[in-house]
Amino acid sequence: MKIVNTINEVREQVRAWRREGLSVGLVPTMGYLHEGHKSLIDRSVSENDRTVVSVFVNPMQFGPGEDLETYPRDMERDAALCEEAGASLIFHPEPSEMYEKDFSSYVDMETLTGGLCGKTRPIHFRGVCTVVSKLFHIVTPDRAYFGQKDAQQLAVIRHMVNDLNFGIQIVGCPIVREEDGLAKSSRNTYLSPEERKAALILSQSLKEGRRLFDEGERDAKKLQSAITEKIQSEPLAKIDYVEVVDWNTLEPVEKIEGETLIAIAVYIGKTRLIDNVLV
Ligand code: AMP
Repeated sequence: MKIVNTINEVREQVRAWRREGLSVGLVPTMGYLHEGHKSLIDRSVSENDRTVVSVFVNPMQFGPGEDLETYPRDMERDAALCEEAGASLIFHPEPSEMYEKDFSSYVDMETLTGGLCGKTRPIHFRGVCTVVSKLFHIVTPDRAYFGQKDAQQLAVIRHMVNDLNFGIQIVGCPIVREEDGLAKSSRNTYLSPEERKAALILSQSLKEGRRLFDEGERDAKKLQSAITEKIQSEPLAKIDYVEVVDWNTLEPVEKIEGETLIAIAVYIGKTRLIDNVLV
């Protein structure tokens, strides 16, 4: 496995693979890799001849006051995880490699990005769409792998690839959880032991929502209230949003009929965590 820092090195490597007729999968990440990321890499390795993992904490998708500076980083450990999972190349650029001084072109989506995480993070998806477009142009993969954990991001990327004819297959992968149910996240490292326990309220409240749905509840407001009440029972939790939305449009629904996303964002202390379930 190679680790490279420049766009030219990635291009050269991918060109060499293409000359051999090999297929290429891409797993975009911000690093500090865990089992969730590994599940994406495993899937890519099983479906492509070569897998590229990008490790880049993208400044453009962080708003003022967010955790860009403190976001956890550990390249040595990330490299070991990628190597063990069978990745062929890590692309680990500096921000200056991705964004030259006069950078001024963006990918901005008018639908899907205004609600859910887009409300508290208004510039987030512009940063995500722009960096993922750049990675797609640099790596030119056959397939790219994204986690259902960031459900809105997955929906946005699928829509962007369709709108802009990238010709890349987007593969969504299930949420990987800790044994007690907490969705794995690089940001879980911010939690104190007490907050780590409190964070269980995310998966538990969604489980409660799922249970009500399985028992036949289809009224979105009722599910929303039940989940909200459950989260409010945890003193360390502060709700950002609890939403029941159509999985295709991400617009709120009143009655659950088609594929529906129940998505939540909750602050545990200062740490903002997200989780969701598809019903
Ligand atoms: P990040 O490094 O947080 O930007 O995540 C990189 C990719 O890994 C995204 O597509 C995430 O959705 C995915 N991912 C992160 N955590 C998980 C998880 N617990 N289960 C599945 N995929 C995940």
